[in-house]
Amino acid sequence: MSAEKSLAIVLRTVDFSETSLVVTLFTRDFGKIGALAKGARRPKSAFEGALDLLSLCRVVFLHKSTDALDLLTEAKLQRRFRAASRDLTRLYAGYYVAELLDELTHTGDPHADLFDAAEQALAELDGEGDVAAVLLRLEMTALRVLGHLPSLATCVGCDRPVELEGRVAFGMLDGGVLCADCRPGKRQVVSVSGGVVKTLQQFADATSDAWRSALLPAKVWGELRGVLNHYLANLLGKKPKLHDFLGSLAK
Ligand SMILES: [Zn+2]
Repeated sequence: MSAEKSLAIVLRTVDFSETSLVVTLFTRDFGKIGALAKGARRPKSAFEGALDLLSLCRVVFLHKSTDALDLLTEAKLQRRFRAASRDLTRLYAGYYVAELLDELTHTGDPHADLFDAAEQALAELDGEGDVAAVLLRLEMTALRVLGHLPSLATCVGCDRPVELEGRVAFGMLDGGVLCADCRPGKRQVVSVSGGVVKTLQQFADATSDAWRSALLPAKVWGELRGVLNHYLANLLGKKPKLHDFLGSLAK
């Protein structure tokens, strides 16, 4: 059992006893962990209120080699997610970030780049960032980093470029756009506008900040959310709790 240190985002807390909490943390260096925070529910605990949902904190924990929970020994608050007190939309957006990180990542599988993107997204959601755009950017980044990004430029069946004009076939199970030759016989194929696929490309592009000036009119947003929600639900094997909320973000 060794003491590990990392930056962490609090994804979930569950009361464990009169005085303790079980916390799910997304750490920068060790990925997701589950840890017992003894005494965290006491008024003057060593954790000093650092374990609120979506707080960014610096933690020290004892890593258990078995399936047992890790033991949190220290948590110093770096930044609190304050949106709760001023804006429900931003609060729900924060909940969605927590749900996404919790559901998409595996325990003990570190992704520092995803951590940095999530930390940045939470800061923007808690500030003046565009909620719809910031969430979409994080979703596409998470899919890319975790190897689940759908094929958006070339056919997922034959790898040939797909024309993104008019309507395009998108295979939910195959994971991306399909050309006319590959589409027949495929299950769970939906028709999407080329504009939606181009928008998804823009938000997935790690080399560009063009997404920040992307226009997301209600029509595009509605269709885009329909496709992406369906894709994510397929990937996770269930519908994320906050998906209905995302549909309401259109401008
Ligand atoms: Zn094809």
